[in-house]
Amino acid sequence: MIATSELRELLYNGGASLVGFGDISALQYGGYTSCVALAVKIPADVVYGIGLGPTRDYFEQYRALNSKLDSLAELTAQYLTRQGFRAMAQTTTAVAESSGFRTPMPHKTCATRAGLGWIGKSALLVTREYGPAVRLSSVLTDARFDCMAEPVNTSGCGSCTACTRACPGRAIQGALWDVGTPREKLVDAKACRRTARALAMERIGEKITLCGKCVEVCPYTRAYLEKENLL
Ligand code: SF4
Ligand code: SF4
Repeated sequence: MIATSELRELLYNGGASLVGFGDISALQYGGYTSCVALAVKIPADVVYGIGLGPTRDYFEQYRALNSKLDSLAELTAQYLTRQGFRAMAQTTTAVAESSGFRTPMPHKTCATRAGLGWIGKSALLVTREYGPAVRLSSVLTDARFDCMAEPVNTSGCGSCTACTRACPGRAIQGALWDVGTPREKLVDAKACRRTARALAMERIGEKITLCGKCVEVCPYTRAYLEKENLL
């Protein structure tokens, strides 16, 4: 049995913004029964800066935060392995090698099982603390934790339509998520990609998929920016 307080402290000290422990036994993946979900917030000034479209800062933060998350996931896996459990850090490298850039167990699934937030109308994980202005990672394990989160099974979006209205690609359908809702019911992925590629080329001259409008307009993100005195 792992004391979550010790691991949590280790991860917060290492730069995690949110840490959760969830039960994934019902999902039956590779004999893993639990997950550690990790989130790192996107700096408030960077999120504030994408009001008019994606920026180079936003693009560069993605890479920097992915690298921080990879280190945190590896740290977690090492910690669990040292205590005799199996643990698989779902790092960017591990995900790319194992399955052509698809996470075997999506980070967002782990995050909802670990109580970090719900899936918004934008199909992004929405946290109460930072809205969708977070990057995610996760570790799968067979470790037992002394304190597991209550999973989140329904949307907290309610009647909000901020992202639906602001999406420049009209990709967000406006549906409310609950467990089992497929991504296609929430967002038209092709329309999102087309728009985000055009915006990234127009704003920063890069052939990448980057937009972020649905991150920036979410009221939970706005509350985070307000707390950081940016609004
Ligand atoms: S990233 Fe941009 S285009 Fe894609 S769903 Fe969000 S707001 Fe719409
Ligand atoms: S903007 Fe509103 S509807 Fe969209 S994810 Fe955030 S809370 Fe949900």
